Amino acid sequence: LAIDWSTQGIVDRRNRFYSASQRKFVPYKDPLIIKRGRGQYVWDEQDRKYIDLLGMNLCISVGHAHPRVVKAASEQVAELTHCTTMFYHPVPAQYAEELAGTMPAGHEWVVHFTNSGAEAIDLALLMARSHTGNIDMLALASSYHGATFGAQSVTGIAGFRHSVPQLGGVTFVPEPNQYRGIHGEGVEPYLKEIDRAIATSTSGRLAGMIVEPVQGYGGIVPIPEGYIAGAFERVRAAGGLCIIDEVQSGVGRTGEAFWSFESHGVVPDIVVVAKGVGNGIPLGAVIATREVAETMADKFLFHTYGANPVACAAGRAVLKVMREERLQENARTVGGALRTRLEDLKERYPIIGDVRGRGLMLAIELVRNRATKEPAPEETLAVFEETRRNGLVASRSGPYRNVIRMCPPLCLAMADVDDVLDRFERSFAAIAR
Ligand code: PMP
Repeated sequence: LAIDWSTQGIVDRRNRFYSASQRKFVPYKDPLIIKRGRGQYVWDEQDRKYIDLLGMNLCISVGHAHPRVVKAASEQVAELTHCTTMFYHPVPAQYAEELAGTMPAGHEWVVHFTNSGAEAIDLALLMARSHTGNIDMLALASSYHGATFGAQSVTGIAGFRHSVPQLGGVTFVPEPNQYRGIHGEGVEPYLKEIDRAIATSTSGRLAGMIVEPVQGYGGIVPIPEGYIAGAFERVRAAGGLCIIDEVQSGVGRTGEAFWSFESHGVVPDIVVVAKGVGNGIPLGAVIATREVAETMADKFLFHTYGANPVACAAGRAVLKVMREERLQENARTVGGALRTRLEDLKERYPIIGDVRGRGLMLAIELVRNRATKEPAPEETLAVFEETRRNGLVASRSGPYRNVIRMCPPLCLAMADVDDVLDRFERSFAAIAR
């Protein structure tokens, strides 16, 4: 089949045949066509090379076109592309065992495979409500959990919530954003908000609470130590389950742990994973304790592509490569170096108000005034467009669109850190002029 790589051809076809919302979510003013990816790099159709600072939206964990993942997936495509969970196959079963094995010891974990994060979020909500018999759910105000009805209902960012009846029974509490949260720094005032929300906006009995340990679309907001533990204690006291969304922050990305919740000393009841687990092949899962998941045994819950052998073969290869290439450790060391260099950059450019994140999940937030923290969305856009010209692919996020998000493939090398900084430096300098 002929492929038309011309910019005009792609733009015209998108404009004519993509729905409005699928056209809308693009980072740059002019289209960026991505033709090829290897490791931490991508190339456009003119063969210009970029450092993929976004891991193509966090899906690329072990690197673009990693040979082990490519081999595992393509061998499985050729042998048997699909069979559904109606028929038995060893690959998804073994992958379920391996994925369950990444969860904290001392609990029996089971896996329900989906195709995407949002589907898994929906299932997590359903599980929490089925298991507890309660309805009320807490979520953080600047959260993002996906685009389906269920996932939108627990998504706090207005731009992702459509004007339709959402699932009822969701109460939002302020996110403990240590840079610009409504209570400033600290954990206690935000925990008090949970107490107040339970007492004044719910029945007093919860189905659960859902948290991203590092908020992604909220602008890379790491949840401070003590908050998740304190929140979960309160949620459990109200009869609810604790749900962690690891869709962005999982798979070793934060460096210190394979799943970012582990750094908070908590054991959730339900963990939602997607994106990086498949290294770009559509794959998601709900990992829950057997006790919680078994309460849904009386009804069918069938995802046609859930436990697809190709996706699971890729998932198995990802886990193996993560271990063998020590990519979690790489995320910690290279991410640490990148962060230090970004903090140096902040010293030189007053427009950088904050540098934050964990491992290879980092961000810089741009402000017009460091004292008032007035967001600088136009300036962010200008710097951002410049970084593209300088060979970086990243994304803007946060409620004010003034955060540059960096979540590269976990194989980003120390040598790339110099290149990234050099390109940021040139971009900031060009805007400062
Ligand atoms: N949770 C988080 C934290 C996400 O960032 C996303 C996707 N950006 C989702 C859930 C939903 O995943 P998907 O787009 O695969 O449905």
